Amino acid sequence: MPWFKNLIKISKTITNQSSSYKSITPLASPLLAQFLQFTKQYSTNDHVVGLEATKSDQKPRIVVLGSGWAGCRLMKDIDTNIYDVVCVSPRNHMVFTPLLASTCVGTLEFRSVAEPIGRIQPAVSTQPASYFFLANCNAIDFDNHMIQCQTVTEGVETLEPWKFNVSYDKLVIASGAHALTFGIKGVNEHATFLREVHHAQEIRRKLLLNLMLSDVPGVSEEEKRRLLHCVVVGGGPTGVEFSGELSDFILKDVHQRYAHVKDYIHVTLIEANEILSSFDDRLRVYATNQLTKSGVRLVRGLVQHVQPDKIILSDGTNVPYGLLVWSTGVGPSPFVNSLDIPKAKGRIGIDEWLRVPSVQDVYSIGDCSGFLESTGRQVLPALAQVAERQGKYLASLLNKVGKEGGGHANCAQNINLGDPFVYKHLGSMATIGRYKALVDLRESKVSSFFFTSIFLFFLLRWCLDRALTYFNHTPSYLLLISPTSINIE
Ligand SMILES: Cc1cc2nc3c(=O)[nH]c(=O)nc-3n(C[C@H](O)[C@H](O)[C@H](O)COP(=O)(O)OP(=O)(O)OC[C@H]3O[C@@H](n4cnc5c(N)ncnc54)[C@H](O)[C@@H]3O)c2cc1C
Repeated sequence: MPWFKNLIKISKTITNQSSSYKSITPLASPLLAQFLQFTKQYSTNDHVVGLEATKSDQKPRIVVLGSGWAGCRLMKDIDTNIYDVVCVSPRNHMVFTPLLASTCVGTLEFRSVAEPIGRIQPAVSTQPASYFFLANCNAIDFDNHMIQCQTVTEGVETLEPWKFNVSYDKLVIASGAHALTFGIKGVNEHATFLREVHHAQEIRRKLLLNLMLSDVPGVSEEEKRRLLHCVVVGGGPTGVEFSGELSDFILKDVHQRYAHVKDYIHVTLIEANEILSSFDDRLRVYATNQLTKSGVRLVRGLVQHVQPDKIILSDGTNVPYGLLVWSTGVGPSPFVNSLDIPKAKGRIGIDEWLRVPSVQDVYSIGDCSGFLESTGRQVLPALAQVAERQGKYLASLLNKVGKEGGGHANCAQNINLGDPFVYKHLGSMATIGRYKALVDLRESKVSSFFFTSIFLFFLLRWCLDRALTYFNHTPSYLLLISPTSINIE
């Protein structure tokens, strides 16, 4: 709280001293101007901090929780002539998750898979009443159309987290899902997840550190093997793709650049059931053979306990490791669990128009939502292709509602929403290293054009991987990679 008051004081001083404000560099001024506007508006009343409800002569406000696939696709298409957009998220960028595994081993650079929110929806950094707030939403007052947020100050020891409220006309909950750990002891403390850019940075840092430490004189054979044992738990698409990337890295880079220790490094993939259980049987067999050929050891087992240097399986086997990556699927986040609204398999229950039917003006998309049983539809898989299409659909629905005068709170009851959302699965794909991939098209009706597209996608990706490594285009000052941004290149 004191830091915020100080900032308000500073901002008032700067506003009064117009000459000093003009002297601020062009880079800093738009951001500062945006901040000044927010504080100026609310510093007049010490008790109300946040954005109040809009008036009927103002643009209605859409509040989007989350900056992932769903939230960003929605924001990209929202008509900012109709709405002001406020995005609340603990992350100031979107992560292109399908390529995240490639950044762990340096095939791609981190900046190539992260896009700043201001680029996706420029209004949040240029328009007077649209904002991006680096914060978590902690609670929603559905009756009063208001959310409660808390700033993210991780890594900034001098700042206390600060609470503020934001009123909404339309609320879109797109806060994603959380990694599942099944309550297994030691996972949160010792394993690394693969969901965010800072996770990929951590994995790359540990991998390189272990490669270098294992080459130091005096390290025992046993310790070398442990340091260079990379264990992946979870044989879904993410675990398999990451194992494939690691084996490529070992075959190419480690053999060339860390030749002294090349015979000590190994990858083990532990899965309780079948790997890639959602894929066709023949594809699973193919993936198993390819991974084994690339040197990945596949172990069927159930992790019982994770210690700092070893995993203990339910049959008592000890698996020493130097790097442990945990990828056993996703489930509802504590925030979603805390919301007192009907759920579908733990996710926020929605109807065919992606509305949360028990409350007014609230919608939910992406991994955090699922169709209610009453809709007669299945809960859709937690996939980017679902989240992206829901975001696109909802943006067009909300634009239509806004155009027809239903943008403000409690004003859309009599508006025809048009066709409901329909999801068509285009197929699943998982890369398994060495530029090989599995494409499962069982649920989709596609022509040979699609196969050609897949081939072209891989060709393009191969070229892009190489090009992006040399020409990373996103200026790093636009990205805030928490908890700390480290340079390990
Ligand atoms: C490594 C990896 C690879 C993947 N590969 C594929 C693939 O190839 N194909 C595919 O279809 N899918 C893939 N997925 C799944 C896909 O990424 C997800 O289904 C998709 O990200 C879901 O989008 P979303 O917007 O619902 O959630 P997310 O993308 O997870 O975004 C959620 C957002 O909400 C924010 N948030 C969380 N809590 C709060 C809060 N309390 N308040 C405000 N904001 C909050 C988060 O910071 C984040 O910005 C992959 C996932 C991973 C991790």
